[in-house]
Amino acid sequence: MDTKDTKNKQHPAYDFTIDTKSLYIHWPFCPYKCHFCPFVALVGHDQYMPTYHQALCQELQTFIDGYQGDRHLESIFIGGGTPSTYPLDLLLELFELLKKAFIIGPETEIVIEVNPGTVTPAHLICWKQAGINRVSIGVQTIKSEVLKNFNRLHDQADVYRLLGQVTSVTENVSVDLILGLPGVSPCDWKNLLSEVVTWPIKHVSIYLLTVHEGTPLFFDVRRKRVSLASDDVIADLYSWTVEFLATHGIYRYEVSNFAKPGYASLHNKIYWQRKAYRGFGIGACSFDGHSRYRNQIILQKYLDGIQNGQSITNFSETLSVDDAHLEKVMLGLRQADGLAMTELFADRSIAQQVAGLELLKLLEQEKLLTIKHDRCLLTSKGLLVENEIVVRVTNL
Ligand code: SF4
Repeated sequence: MDTKDTKNKQHPAYDFTIDTKSLYIHWPFCPYKCHFCPFVALVGHDQYMPTYHQALCQELQTFIDGYQGDRHLESIFIGGGTPSTYPLDLLLELFELLKKAFIIGPETEIVIEVNPGTVTPAHLICWKQAGINRVSIGVQTIKSEVLKNFNRLHDQADVYRLLGQVTSVTENVSVDLILGLPGVSPCDWKNLLSEVVTWPIKHVSIYLLTVHEGTPLFFDVRRKRVSLASDDVIADLYSWTVEFLATHGIYRYEVSNFAKPGYASLHNKIYWQRKAYRGFGIGACSFDGHSRYRNQIILQKYLDGIQNGQSITNFSETLSVDDAHLEKVMLGLRQADGLAMTELFADRSIAQQVAGLELLKLLEQEKLLTIKHDRCLLTSKGLLVENEIVVRVTNL
């Protein structure tokens, strides 16, 4: 996505008539900045929390006032940042507003992202009262010296304490891990996974480490202060992980996501199925079925924009037919049930379809994908080079 501030551009307006089934609320405040973090995360800005909360509520209210679609919500995701630092009285106020404006039932997935070391018994009472029914814990690793090296101010004991705490709110607990962190050997990774399968959780998200330009990790790698595992080592560990989790009843349903049956993330599915969702807060993204939007990423600009009733969109793009097709293929192939051949070849000419089938045969021989019941599924090996495959099958 373009990261330039496009303030002089006329952005299209979010389509308020489209049924928007998911809301994302961004809480950007963090007690520390992790060295690998590419997100809009603010450290040392806690004094802005009440003002930011008021701005968030105002942004929400403007949406509520103009919205003309169905008001049943499938999911609400409070992401960050570190949403477990959201002051509890303010969080309850936010939920009051949401509950007045939308139809939120027990089937609505309401998720909060939580970091170890930031939760007290009062949080648990508040989250239950708010109706939060899924907790996503940013574990990343439990090796204390690695956590410290990356400036994450929690340790293994905090992770275990938190796992014990959150199960009083919900049994629907997910953990995030990062594969490829420097300092975590293949043996450490396997030990971590052996622990994870004994935890009271239903879902695991595993992200491959990405070195984002400008982060402390980026400079450490450039100065050769840390070295990264080779692609082959990561590929082997990823394949091992997929099999290991499956033998413990936790199945991959998307390239980075694994769940016990019935616990796949509803919120992520909205993204992957390209349904409309609306994001609130700095850097939050939205999609109305035609266009993508992103809010201001600078706190003061966001606060000023809300206060002055000006547009807070700093990026938008309206997808062409080809862009939308590319996105559909990319998101479809990431999922374990793959993509229907009819969708893969939608709007393609006969000649393109013939060339496409030839290509699929070739990729099948290379063990990168399989075709089953007219659906195209990537293998573990294929998922690791998904971007290349997407480019090949959409550039016929
Ligand atoms: S806790 Fe998450 S959002 Fe905050 S700095 Fe670390 S990785 Fe970034």
